[in-house]
Amino acid sequence: MRSGEVHTAILENGSQIQYVYDANAPRGGMKHTFFTPDKRFAVQFFNNPRDSENPRLQDRIRTIVGIYNPTLSEEDGGALGNTEKTAEYFRQRFCWPVAIVKNPEFGIVCPTYPSNFFFGEGASTVLNLKGKDKKSNWFTGRNRKYLEPAERGDFRTMLKTAIGLSRTVRRMHQAGLAHSDLSCNNVLIDPKSGSAVVIDIDSLVVPNKYAPEVVGTRGYIAPEVLATLELDYNDQRRALPCVQTDLHALPVLIYEYLFFRHPLIGPKIYSTKSAEEDDFLALGEKATFIENPDDHSNRPPNLGVTIQSLSKGLEKLFLRAFVDGLHNPSERPTAMEWETELLKAWDRLVPCANPKCEKKWFILRDELTPVCPFCGTRAAGKIIRLGFKSEMRGKKGVYRGKSEVIVYDKMPLFDWHVFSNIHNDEKADPSMRAYIAYYNGMWLLVNNGIEGMMSPSGRLVPKGSAVELKDMAMFRMSNKENGLLCETMIINGT
Ligand SMILES: [Zn+2]
Repeated sequence: MRSGEVHTAILENGSQIQYVYDANAPRGGMKHTFFTPDKRFAVQFFNNPRDSENPRLQDRIRTIVGIYNPTLSEEDGGALGNTEKTAEYFRQRFCWPVAIVKNPEFGIVCPTYPSNFFFGEGASTVLNLKGKDKKSNWFTGRNRKYLEPAERGDFRTMLKTAIGLSRTVRRMHQAGLAHSDLSCNNVLIDPKSGSAVVIDIDSLVVPNKYAPEVVGTRGYIAPEVLATLELDYNDQRRALPCVQTDLHALPVLIYEYLFFRHPLIGPKIYSTKSAEEDDFLALGEKATFIENPDDHSNRPPNLGVTIQSLSKGLEKLFLRAFVDGLHNPSERPTAMEWETELLKAWDRLVPCANPKCEKKWFILRDELTPVCPFCGTRAAGKIIRLGFKSEMRGKKGVYRGKSEVIVYDKMPLFDWHVFSNIHNDEKADPSMRAYIAYYNGMWLLVNNGIEGMMSPSGRLVPKGSAVELKDMAMFRMSNKENGLLCETMIINGT
């Protein structure tokens, strides 16, 4: 076989696919990859026949491609309850295998990653990155400074990336699946657009199927997995990758996206015997969060911005993940808790008034001290908070808070700010329904297509018209069923 020759693979569904043979095909730990002539799909074969001929591995991969597949609608043989709309949503966020090759040997077909997950021309003037995939450590590690500013994104796009990833992992966990090797290598990110794609799906842990013998990647392996690595695979005490170990890797990635540092790698020396032993303890049995509030032994001297500058909810989750849950897997927050708290933080995100601020945006933790933690600039003017409230079922006139946002000029509002039964998730329509405008010294909420929006005095606000956001102004976002009540609060910072 010569490089460049086009070969034909026969799929289990009977159809055929062509791929270009390459003697120097990219080779990972488990598989090597060829591409279709149009490069839209990757055709992957296992390096070791012990894997490709293993009926338990084949069986597991068949269920991943079929009944557990969130990128395929239930109608087309994919995951239960999955519609075409949610399938399309997750096709952008998972590089999920789409077919199984049976000839010339067992293998899988995956879509190639969307082009925004590869570096293009001019990504860096120092590093030769063109064509390389966007592993997250390019953006969170030491090399970040060599990237062109346009590639780097800002705090807002990194928070958006974190939301996207937690949603993707939540979807996987909802189905009972665990990734088993979430890491900077298997989650590609594009900070420019704030998106993430999860790859290497074939090592998923599937309920009631033989688990893959993957342990994970240094820095992302859960401490209990690392600490029991030397025990026999079948030993009861050996901790294996599962949903709870993903729930260690997920906050490690989120922490890296938000702070550009690893939560466990600090100055503490755990062993003077050897560097390996030290590393093994630092990330395993003795791991200590660099921001542990009670144990400062691993805290770097110039930590800079910490979790205390995030929302109070996110601070609590990081403490649960890296203090309470670090060595106690059942205490770790779920992917859904991460998604929920990151979204709440997103609603408190405001632009920094300093045009030179590198992070550009920050989470407004406390309205009374509106200061950017990254550059120290105080927000100019007043802070306006909107509280969205829903009427309790069967209790007319009794309202319960659904969400809160801190407004800024040109801020978009969506269906989940209008209706109590719509949440910011994969099912929601992402069209902008209203927006905030600072105009002639007035803060306005402009209707961009909500039916039945009401003014504080009870008049209909048609599309293109606005409500002025005065202190204590209260109005219905919509008078239709499930329409939320909006309460305005103006806070003067000190
Ligand atoms: Zn700033």
